[in-house]
Amino acid sequence: MTVTESPPLSTCTIQIERRGGRGEAGARALERYLGDTPGVHDVDVSFRTGNVRITYDESVTSGVQLREAVRDRNVSIENERDTAPDEVTTRSELRQEAVFVGLTLLGMVTGLATGWLNGPPLLMWGGYGVAYVFGGWYGLKGAIETLRHRAVDIDLLMIVAALGALSIGAPFEGAMLLFLFSLSNTLQHYAIGRSRRAIKSLVEMRPDEAQVLRDGEEVTVPIDDIDVGDVFVVRPGDKIALDGVVTSGEGTVDQASLTGESVPVPKEPDDEVFGGTINESGSLEIEVTRQAHESAISRLITMVEQAQSEKAPTQRLIDRLEQPYVLGVFGLTIAAIAIPLALGSEFTGTFYRAMTLMVAASPCAVIISTPAAVLSAIASGGRQGVLFKGGEHVETAANIDAVAFDKTGTLTQGDTQLTDVFVRDSAADETLTEDSLLSLAAAVQARSEHHLARATVAAADERSLDTPDAARFQSVAGKGVRADVGEETIHIGNRSYFQTVLGDESVDGLKPGLSRLETLEEEGKTSVLVARESHVDISVLGWLAFTDTVRPDAAEMIDKLRSLGVEHIVMLTGDNERVAQRIADEVGIDEVQAELLPEEKVATIEELVEQHENVAMVGDGVNDAPALATATLGIAMGGAGTDVALDTADVVLMGDDLSKIPYVLGLGRRTRRTLTINLAIAFGAIALMVGTILLRGIPLPLAVVGHEGSTVLVSLNGLRLLGFRG
Ligand code: ADP
Ligand code: MG
Repeated sequence: MTVTESPPLSTCTIQIERRGGRGEAGARALERYLGDTPGVHDVDVSFRTGNVRITYDESVTSGVQLREAVRDRNVSIENERDTAPDEVTTRSELRQEAVFVGLTLLGMVTGLATGWLNGPPLLMWGGYGVAYVFGGWYGLKGAIETLRHRAVDIDLLMIVAALGALSIGAPFEGAMLLFLFSLSNTLQHYAIGRSRRAIKSLVEMRPDEAQVLRDGEEVTVPIDDIDVGDVFVVRPGDKIALDGVVTSGEGTVDQASLTGESVPVPKEPDDEVFGGTINESGSLEIEVTRQAHESAISRLITMVEQAQSEKAPTQRLIDRLEQPYVLGVFGLTIAAIAIPLALGSEFTGTFYRAMTLMVAASPCAVIISTPAAVLSAIASGGRQGVLFKGGEHVETAANIDAVAFDKTGTLTQGDTQLTDVFVRDSAADETLTEDSLLSLAAAVQARSEHHLARATVAAADERSLDTPDAARFQSVAGKGVRADVGEETIHIGNRSYFQTVLGDESVDGLKPGLSRLETLEEEGKTSVLVARESHVDISVLGWLAFTDTVRPDAAEMIDKLRSLGVEHIVMLTGDNERVAQRIADEVGIDEVQAELLPEEKVATIEELVEQHENVAMVGDGVNDAPALATATLGIAMGGAGTDVALDTADVVLMGDDLSKIPYVLGLGRRTRRTLTINLAIAFGAIALMVGTILLRGIPLPLAVVGHEGSTVLVSLNGLRLLGFRG
């Protein structure tokens, strides 16, 4: 994906009634209808999960109009707010489905037993009647809905097969088909509900109220009534109710529910804390920074729900094929009746065989194979603090064979520290000291957001230096900054800043300055020169050196990526080559691309995509946004704290835990394997049964068991991904 000028696109997720049936051909019809609505770019509809997800152009249409369009098609909308249908409805729906399955079984057994015992025919037919009505209820409803959208789906196939069996005097076979059909539908709903709800358990992690300080007193207040700026108290062992910043106290916080990181994080004043995490030790006073519904955990939940409503490419393909496939099966069935009859076969046997063929060839397992796996994978990620922005990205993650890392803040901790201040010996200004040099630098850097700037200001604060005011601040991306302090301009930057922006001739003391930078960089320290421009000349005053700690688990993470089969690992950085190479050697990275300007990072990713096709870019999301968008899979770290990461990346790691990167690729690969196995089971069962039927025939009940059995098997196999731990 490349970044281009495009209209402002929004996405809305609408919860619709779930349909009891199994097929999605009706959903395809609704997709086509909504797709033709002006302003709509992309639509995914699933009746199975009860989701409509629409990407649209805000300047043409609106969420309200789109809801109207959905209602126009006689699809009722579950919940007017953008939240998932609440658990109670889902549970009571499931209970009703389960009751219907029970009644179907009862009717079937009654019918069968009465028939065997030569009991009253009325009782026998009554039993089968009950089985047909309750077993076929949801399937028939689904089939009719789909027909109204002028499409046919597998529900229709099942209903026709059951009626076909009945018509040739095999009511038991038909009832059994409907019983297993409704049973496996219910299981399937349960499975899909589980994977959708898995993430909901996070909501329960968050307490409903907090102890807010009002006039020095602690008052218990429901979280929805707490405002930004309120201060609440959290005792050891308590859950933190809302996102905020620690104002007093120290402690350690278990953030696993949000970030998946198992190691508790120390917190002290000014540190950010998140709702839903657990304060393990120490009392904390926390000032609220986000209201309850905007908290990181609420956003995680909403985003996972939206992700689950976006179909993966395999699923789109399968959903598109459903209708032609169903028509094909009908065609096959008709041929299986017409041809033998034309050749003089007797009717009942031929018809029985054709029904068997129809059941065996129905693609129910094929259709459920993908959502069962992908929804589970997304939910499993959510519980580990890994947010996939859609099913598509789970599939992409499976194919990644090159990974590019941003250095600062990603491979390193991003807690850059100023380590040395050097004053140039022959500086024109004799009175210049380390402290006065640092305060000049801090004056300029106070205007910059860069990590080197923040480290400079922090160091000046630590030495309690007075920093003068700076004016006319300017920054040159990837090179340096300047600003006026008093009568003079202070320049701070790297080699490239002084050579290309200022032009080297004119700077006094540049040569010795640059050679000092080189020495410092050999030691792995990122360094910049500080120079002063007066009306007479520009002269180097001194230099500043910084270090940033490499994350302790970086080397292990790189090893894991290799064992997952990633061929090529690259580091991208704006920092100096020597510093970058040192870190690359330390963690085991193959290739270093250093001294890159932000746009060159994008070009480098484009090149990598050309060479390797599927490239993941890992960054901290703030200044790496264009590169994240360019890569096949953009992975942003530390999403709990930033909004930018949530917007630009395809996958967001809520925490800062590097081990989640191999987890993402591993989960992708495991999901792909599950999909392959599921499709093999589904198509294998069809091929085996159809082959056997054509060669020597099998009893209808066996075809029913094989068909429904493979459907249940792929659902359960998909559900196993919920437990993936990496
Ligand atoms: P990265 O995020 O990899 O550090 P950047 O593009 O942000 O890359 O920065 C690259 C280099 O540009 C820095 O290593 C530094 O030499 C120089 N630079 C950028 N901004 C500043 C600044 N505010 N002060 C001093 N040097 C800067
Ligand atoms: Mg960076």
